[in-house]
Amino acid sequence: MLGGTLARAAESGSSAGSSNKLALALEGGPKSVTQRFKAGPRWGEPERDQLNRTLEQDTLFYWKAPRTNLLLEKFRKICPVQHAMTCSSGTAALHIAVAAAGIAPGDEVITSPITDIGTVIGVIYQQAVPVFADLVPGTYNLDPTDVAKRITPKTKAIIAVHLCGNPCDLTALKTLCDRHGLILIEDCAQAWGARYRGQPIGSIGHIACFSLQNSKHITCGDGGVVGSNDARFGPLLQRFGDKGFDRIKGGLFESFATNYRMTEPQAGIAAAQLDRLENIVSRRARLGGLLTEQITSVPGLIPHEVHPEDRCVYWFYMLRLRPAAFGCDRAQFVKALAAEGIEAGAGYIPVPLHRNPVFLKHGFFAGRWPVRESGLTSMDYNQVQCSEAEAILQTGVRVTIHEAMSEQYIREVAAGIAKVARHFAAA
Ligand SMILES: *Cc1c(COP(=O)(O)O)cnc(C)c1O
Repeated sequence: MLGGTLARAAESGSSAGSSNKLALALEGGPKSVTQRFKAGPRWGEPERDQLNRTLEQDTLFYWKAPRTNLLLEKFRKICPVQHAMTCSSGTAALHIAVAAAGIAPGDEVITSPITDIGTVIGVIYQQAVPVFADLVPGTYNLDPTDVAKRITPKTKAIIAVHLCGNPCDLTALKTLCDRHGLILIEDCAQAWGARYRGQPIGSIGHIACFSLQNSKHITCGDGGVVGSNDARFGPLLQRFGDKGFDRIKGGLFESFATNYRMTEPQAGIAAAQLDRLENIVSRRARLGGLLTEQITSVPGLIPHEVHPEDRCVYWFYMLRLRPAAFGCDRAQFVKALAAEGIEAGAGYIPVPLHRNPVFLKHGFFAGRWPVRESGLTSMDYNQVQCSEAEAILQTGVRVTIHEAMSEQYIREVAAGIAKVARHFAAA
């Protein structure tokens, strides 16, 4: 816990009315963050043990294999789904999801423009059309009101991206889906262990997709899991990750898909990683909440907004600057934060997905886009307007939250943010 002096320092550091400016570290003043956090090893004996057991097996192939079964068993404890399939990436999980959902050429899938491109790769490969909707200013997640405006007779699904591990407004999105007969796919790649109103993330939509890529909360280098409780889609997940082959029924190919299988060594590592999850995410949830509490009264800042009944697992923390409140630009602000010893960066992805050249040129397949050329869609990504998403990326400041950080560390981070904000406050 925190000493009284530090606590008072942190408080005064974030008090709005304080008139005396502390010297920025950037200008030779003392650094706000006086300690270092040491990220421990992400894997060790449990993973090694799984790998050793794998090597004692006579197969490394996933079907009915012990490591894959163990991973799925542990996965179901954190995301209670009847049907689940391991796969090679989060992108693969999402592709399997849209394929199993029966998304057809020309169908529209509404999603967020601030996400990993993997969210929409499967949509585009199925010859369907990603439709980007605008976001809520404080949560950086889909704004259900704007989503509703973008629903057309061609809309078949919504992919709700729980950005940074902050749950989307699933009640509103589910209501929209029920009203319009849409499928709700949850992109939980950044949201391992998150909870929506107390319920495990991934258990509210029709299909849930997780990534085990190296940068996520838990990992096996690359990997993914896709799950569903829906009797229409769940039984299809296996075949859409496995070249269209139904390993239960056997027989001839009745569906067409690529090979997204995960191997046993990966499954073993991922299974061991799942045992580490709760420690990682409970700490991140608490530290992120503490950071919000500490900076909430600093003028000019918009903290990362999380519903009080939700658990955000802070893949990273993102606050926003109100540009008019500061006499500096975001780059200067971030530079000053770095000098204070704070791990921070400007925004997240450089531009919303649809403003990347491959979208603007509609050049997905050797420079062409068959669904558009054939008239199945008239989508023009040059015309897409998501002004809040643009503003989020232009004003966002990313701050690292790591499970190895102490509460005192976060208080120093908060004090540094407050100091920089007060220093640059517009007169
Ligand atoms: C990482 C990520 C993906 C893609 O996962 P990969 O395993 O890298 O393919 C998809 N969506 C989101 C939100 C992600 O963060």
